[in-house]
Amino acid sequence: MIYCDYNATAPLRPEAREAMNLVMEVQANPSSVHGAGRNARRIIERARKSISAVIGGRSEDLVFTSGGTEANSLAINGALSKIANGVLLYSDLEHPAVRDIALSGAYPVQRINVTGKGQLDLEHLTAVLASLSTDQTPFLTLMLANNETGVIQPVAEAARLVRDYDGLTHTDGVQAIGKIPVNVGLLGVDYLSMSAHKCGGPQGVGALWLRAGAPLLPQLIGGGQERSLRSGTENLIGIAGFEAALCAAVLAEEHQKTETIRNAFEVELDDPNIVVFGQEASRLPGTCCLALEGFKGETQVMAMDLAGFSVSSGSACSSGKVKSSAVLAAMGVEDSLRSCALRVSFGYNSDVRDAVALAAAWKKAAHRVQPNMFREFA
Ligand code: PLP
Repeated sequence: MIYCDYNATAPLRPEAREAMNLVMEVQANPSSVHGAGRNARRIIERARKSISAVIGGRSEDLVFTSGGTEANSLAINGALSKIANGVLLYSDLEHPAVRDIALSGAYPVQRINVTGKGQLDLEHLTAVLASLSTDQTPFLTLMLANNETGVIQPVAEAARLVRDYDGLTHTDGVQAIGKIPVNVGLLGVDYLSMSAHKCGGPQGVGALWLRAGAPLLPQLIGGGQERSLRSGTENLIGIAGFEAALCAAVLAEEHQKTETIRNAFEVELDDPNIVVFGQEASRLPGTCCLALEGFKGETQVMAMDLAGFSVSSGSACSSGKVKSSAVLAAMGVEDSLRSCALRVSFGYNSDVRDAVALAAAWKKAAHRVQPNMFREFA
């Protein structure tokens, strides 16, 4: 099986496996004061330091969580519970972990438009900010890179606009960390969410970085771990794996190689009938979201699975539910084409040969649906 679904979960990196195997021998609670406990604590604090360094933040400002979903929820609910008259600004680009908070009815919200290129519409953001009353505090949530199209968002520009209105900005960096350079200072954000399993770490662990002094009401209370911002015994083994994976991803400087593989795939499928979404914008190096009218996303996933390739239709978190993509809808893509979207995502273990083989298998399957296309694959 050739794995081309890194945006759903990247395969565990050997460095992460090795780090976790070592830490499995540490049988102590990081909050215990005895030597074994202090050893566990040292492992967590070293990871906090390394992960913070990767994003250009201070280790004191990093809170470990159970993953990206929890980090997003902690940032948004934690901030909006604390600020007076907060208004949540969001767009349909966001992952359900964010969008469903906006749609829950818990907070006043304003939806910001999305451009045809798959980026937040900064002109609309500017207009919405200007329309708020002076006693309202804008809280923008804008992901760094989209999980479906890979399109990188204008987070620094948006955060600057929001700051002019004394507002706060959260960015969901889950798909970005380890794939593109991320620096919280350069982005000018107040909160950044991360998840280990998108960069080759284990599932079920992540972190929220928050600027010193940024408001946050804890959502889990109890033992007072993580500076009382997120109670619960830390996932020691997972945190060690997260650190090892992220450091390996950054050290390997894989962006160029992954981009070459993705580009090779797109060259193979260069055809006027095939639409590649977000191609005119800056994208994550390994992501390609494409569609061919009449070739349903679910059919593509099954055909590729039978041919030995793991790919995804739309967002993996919603696959199985067969919902057409809200992201593509926000970009103005017609429903008939949206239901034909396929997401391919390459990563650290991918190879150009995988990309070429996947493109050939896809064309063969596409020919069965559109017999006038790719006749050489008959
Ligand atoms: N945010 C984005 C952009 C994602 O792609 C995902 C997972 O697909 C999440 C958040 C959720 O992260 P986790 O699976 O760690 O809860």
